[in-house]
Amino acid sequence: MRQSGGGAVVADKAVTVTKSHPAKEDFPVVDAEVCIGCGTCIKACPMKAISFKDSVAWINAEMCRNCRKCVSVCPVDAIH
Ligand code: SF4
Ligand code: SF4
Repeated sequence: MRQSGGGAVVADKAVTVTKSHPAKEDFPVVDAEVCIGCGTCIKACPMKAISFKDSVAWINAEMCRNCRKCVSVCPVDAIH
């Protein structure tokens, strides 16, 4: 008798965010005027969707899964 236990990751790949993703307007964006470049959101993002651009956090919408973790960790409320 054999049991197949794994496979939990398989469904993950099927979710592809295209450039015209309808939910994109709900995705978080960084207010560059407010961001102090602390990097907390970059460390917190499970998708590694955030990087620095000109010392300000920038979210790659194609990688973002809209988990809102970055929104909750930002100390100056720069991500909306
Ligand atoms: S919403 Fe989640 S996946 Fe998107 S940038 Fe923020 S932490 Fe990363
Ligand atoms: S956590 Fe907030 S202040 Fe820090 S880099 Fe990210 S957006 Fe900027």
